[in-house]
Amino acid sequence: MQKKTAIVTGAARGIGLATTRLFLNEGWQVAMIDRDAPALEDAASGLDGALPFLCDVSQPDQVDATLPRIIDAFGGVDALVNNAGIADFGPIAETDFARWRRVMETNLDGVFLMSQAALGPLCARRGAIVNIASISGLRASTLRVAYGTSKAAVIQLTKQQAAELGEFGVRANCVCPGPVRTKLAMAVHSQEIIDAYHDAIPLNRYGSETEIAEVIVFLCSGRASYVSGQVIAVDGGFESTGVGLP
Ligand code: NAD
Repeated sequence: MQKKTAIVTGAARGIGLATTRLFLNEGWQVAMIDRDAPALEDAASGLDGALPFLCDVSQPDQVDATLPRIIDAFGGVDALVNNAGIADFGPIAETDFARWRRVMETNLDGVFLMSQAALGPLCARRGAIVNIASISGLRASTLRVAYGTSKAAVIQLTKQQAAELGEFGVRANCVCPGPVRTKLAMAVHSQEIIDAYHDAIPLNRYGSETEIAEVIVFLCSGRASYVSGQVIAVDGGFESTGVGLP
């Protein structure tokens, strides 16, 4: 039987790498996209069924050049996981336009560009899109003006995709992870924030990369064939409490 193909962006480490591994375990093949060449080569080596594609998802020319290479290698696309993202913790007063744009380029433009480039192949296979936003896109908290706004926009983009692409059999859903101890999070989470999360999350702990990946892969699979336009927090119950953070 023809194996299904998933594209995972930001696949060199963290949640993207865990998602890649889980897809492979479930018999998919994976196009791993990342802009960090050494990390991508390192992550892809030894993963049977995965191929690395060096690409910065915020750059239209790189995205447009990469999709045909993926189709050549795998023959089609059944799922697109827009996971590549960067963190930024800064107050409004200190977020100059260059900083704002840097966050939007990867976190929002990257999702738009990848989804648009993969649209034809996804429609051809009645595929699925999963966009990775964040609990920071669901509620406001200090320091997250650019990051939180970019993730809120990804949530809305997901709903737009679900509304527009359903007639082609394409589903679109959004996963909003709570805190996970990846390089991205640990670069911006102070001890004060870590302690506050532990107190505020009903399960009293950070999540693991695999706990997020499980939901992503489920949403891409046929087991979620009637799920579209949904925004799912995978956050140990944090979003349900409304407890604030510093
Ligand atoms: P990470 O930093 O461990 O991994 C992100 C990967 O994306 C890296 O390999 C990086 O090189 C790649 N990347 C960044 N910008 C890129 C670009 N423009 N083009 C191609 N690749 C790019 O981060 P993570 O924690 O695994 O985060 C994955 C996603 O989950 C992000 O969208 C992030 O915002 C979201 N998220 C993470 C957390 C958390 O606590 N870790 C919480 C909520 C949401």
